[in-house]
Amino acid sequence: MHGTKILEEADRLMTVCNSCRYCEGLCAVFPAMEMRRSFSDGDLNYFANLCHACGACYTDCQFSPPHEFNVNVPKTFAIARAESWAAYAWPHAFSSLFARNGLAIGLIAALSVAAFIFGFAAVTDRQVLVGVHTGPGAFYALMPHNAIVALFGGAFLYAIIALVMGVRAFWRDIGEPIGMLIEPGSLWEAMRDAGQLRYLDGGGVGCFNEDERPTDRRKIYHHLTFYGFLLCFAATSVATLYHYLLAREAPYPWWDLPVVLGTLGGIGLLIGPAGLLAEKFKRDPALVDEKRTGMDVAFIVMLFLTSFTGLALLSWRDTPAMGPLLALHLGVVFALFITLPYGKFVHGLYRYAALVRYARERRMMGHGSATE
Ligand code: SF4
Ligand code: SF4
Repeated sequence: MHGTKILEEADRLMTVCNSCRYCEGLCAVFPAMEMRRSFSDGDLNYFANLCHACGACYTDCQFSPPHEFNVNVPKTFAIARAESWAAYAWPHAFSSLFARNGLAIGLIAALSVAAFIFGFAAVTDRQVLVGVHTGPGAFYALMPHNAIVALFGGAFLYAIIALVMGVRAFWRDIGEPIGMLIEPGSLWEAMRDAGQLRYLDGGGVGCFNEDERPTDRRKIYHHLTFYGFLLCFAATSVATLYHYLLAREAPYPWWDLPVVLGTLGGIGLLIGPAGLLAEKFKRDPALVDEKRTGMDVAFIVMLFLTSFTGLALLSWRDTPAMGPLLALHLGVVFALFITLPYGKFVHGLYRYAALVRYARERRMMGHGSATE
């Protein structure tokens, strides 16, 4: 007996797959399955988060619908994955946010933006929103640096705590001692697999999206999004070091490191999410967890808007549009931060933790590295 209906279904499918084993070369899920004869709730949640949703095992399966066995691993794992995220949410009272994440993000974003724009006008002077401010410290004419740090530092810290608590719950659920999450060899191997999106390739041919022709498009757009996000994060980190270590205040000239990193990351975060959204709308409905499409779309749109408003601010920062654009950008980023623990963003952390476990399991079973 399992805790939910979807885990019952996942157990049924894994039992069929464990007899068949046709898909064992496609990804990490099937070799992990083959290490077991029966499946606990934690095992099934581990498989669901290890799955990269490439669709290959649906396209290749001789038992997929309309066969009476009705084997649909990608869709079953998509639903199980989303339900597991809600179960691991911290604080647990917020777990229902996953179910209505699209609406929640929309409302939080709208309120955040409105609060920032009114806040600027209220704490300073309405004129400051429409005046021209240039040179070092220009942004802080609108909102003092310490106020920005307090607001965003608080939101960021909250997001980090909530995300760490979620990963801790996942790690416990899959039955691993917490100390094993920091095993250097497994961490490194999982980082390499995650950095290459090794298992989003349908066993080497590309993933399946709208039909039976494999394609690398989702992988490419995902890379652009992921590395774009990392570059933007690096830009913010370098700017923070500039501020505190070198006493250099933003905004910086276009050739300076934070701006170069932010611009490159911003371009990735425009093209990647736009491409992922286009792929999502084309995706074969048989592979999709329709109930959570809103959550996926909301996160992709928030990433796109973060980049769009950031690049707009960079382009028009020497004009009277700077005030409203800064308020808009900060509002979007604030909404992104506080919704991170309750939306699609968490898939990266749980998938990474699942890859760490997979690397560790292979070592324990004497299989060596997954790349061998
Ligand atoms: S998905 Fe289908 S083909 Fe692949 S292992 Fe399972 S039952 Fe076999
Ligand atoms: S959808 Fe792809 S990653 Fe997921 S179980 Fe099937 S083959 Fe593996």
